[in-house]
Amino acid sequence: MQRKLVFVPSLLLFVLTASNLPQLPPVKNPLAPGQNPAAGCSTTDASSCAQIAAKLLPIVMGPSPMEENLRRLTDEIGGRVTGSPEMAKAVEWAVAAFRAAGVEVHTEKYMLPVIWSEGKTRLLFGVSSLLTTPPAEDVSFPLLPVHAVSVGWSPALAADEVYRLVDVGYGSEEEFRHAGSIKGEVLLVHSDIGSTWTDLLNEYLRPPDIIKRAVAGGAIAILWMGARERLLLYRHTNSLKGEIDKIPQAVVAREDAMRMARLVEEFPKTASAELLMPNKIGGPVEQQNVVGEIRGYEKPNEVVILAAHLDSWELGTGALDNGCNATLVIEAARAIKATGLLPRRTIRFVLFSGKEQGTIGSFEYVKTHRAELDKIRAVIVFDSGIGRVTGYSLGGRRDSESGVREILKPLESWGANNDTYDASFGTDNFDFLLEGVPTLVANQEEANYLPNYHASSDTLDKVDMRELKLHTVLAALTAWGIADRTEPLGKRLTRSEIETQMKETGLDRQMKLLGYWDAWQSGVRGRKP
Ligand SMILES: [Zn+2]
Repeated sequence: MQRKLVFVPSLLLFVLTASNLPQLPPVKNPLAPGQNPAAGCSTTDASSCAQIAAKLLPIVMGPSPMEENLRRLTDEIGGRVTGSPEMAKAVEWAVAAFRAAGVEVHTEKYMLPVIWSEGKTRLLFGVSSLLTTPPAEDVSFPLLPVHAVSVGWSPALAADEVYRLVDVGYGSEEEFRHAGSIKGEVLLVHSDIGSTWTDLLNEYLRPPDIIKRAVAGGAIAILWMGARERLLLYRHTNSLKGEIDKIPQAVVAREDAMRMARLVEEFPKTASAELLMPNKIGGPVEQQNVVGEIRGYEKPNEVVILAAHLDSWELGTGALDNGCNATLVIEAARAIKATGLLPRRTIRFVLFSGKEQGTIGSFEYVKTHRAELDKIRAVIVFDSGIGRVTGYSLGGRRDSESGVREILKPLESWGANNDTYDASFGTDNFDFLLEGVPTLVANQEEANYLPNYHASSDTLDKVDMRELKLHTVLAALTAWGIADRTEPLGKRLTRSEIETQMKETGLDRQMKLLGYWDAWQSGVRGRKP
């Protein structure tokens, strides 16, 4: 395990020393065994969960540094793509915020294989008889710019040519066949507007097959019709392992793409696109996860992780995804520390980077901490904006449900106790789940998450601070409860139990579609055979 303290300006160090933040000696823990027979989370009013919930509520709901922290992260640092200078600033921000909360903090390094940034993407569209000899039709519209952005981790494309634009509908095998030869052409792929979590899942599950067909047919590039309205642009990636994708791709503003589709239908031989994507690609480069820690008084080597990702895309400022929940993790640490109570087990507050490139930071964390995975009792992840929490997704595990219910009993009236047993890729619990560690991902209502997803509109004004504070209480109580209960929440599953869990939840199908299955089978990812 690498430990490194990040540089903090000397002025800040002075302030922290001068304020002389209170450190609670473990021996005085009022809930230590022997001092309180009801210690540990149970369903009784005397349980430590009931006591800590009563203490957390006023600390979190009252005046706190949370809003100012989030304002600085989003408005001042802004979008923070892993590998960028803004990401480095966000790491400094997180370290300083943990320290200001009086929570021990360090960072852990890993190598990001590729860094990527968008150049000046330019997409021109028109109807041009230049493409055919002799000119096929008399009609011609000049090539004019339309709204487009490069897909994240897309290869660069130099624009010195005009390509025929081919509409392949939604990109099914049949539609590709119907489109005929696509060799040397640019493809337009249709999308529906996304408004549910299932729609969002499909935005990731659909592309791999389409990309395969496009590459096999020798296409030059893919243009994805925007799945959000009103010319809103957003950054997607279809490369989920941090590698540069197989074919250049851009997202085209929905209204522009729909007009293009209409004109392709009208002028199939001469509808043309000129695409310039001078993306900058480099690396590998060292990146960091940020880890705050409150050590347990009885079983300090047993660990509960509360996590969110700190990185974001950069068209907006990453407020809903996931600045609000990165701030939640720090605030949960501040609040638990401020109660003056210590849990039996250690709680780690982890801010991962590399998430948007395929949960790279959490994968690296799992690899580095492989030797202690038997003692990681649970991983709790928040990564869905500020929609109301309805419960946790327990990654296919029914054995952890009663424990979670017991822990959240003090907040039963909040309606956050409808746990589900599904399992999915896509956020930072993934590699822990593949290792058999119990994971909890907050299930949240869609609220305003999807219309702003990865988009230029994902800004601070979208964050409902009251809701975020309520979620902070829930998150802190969940982490506390798992850390303080007498028994572990659930055991670490064996490889064959994990595989059963994958089949039951359909996670195996997702992994096959997205290209994760080989890594699981060969033991690169997940619990070793
Ligand atoms: Zn996210």
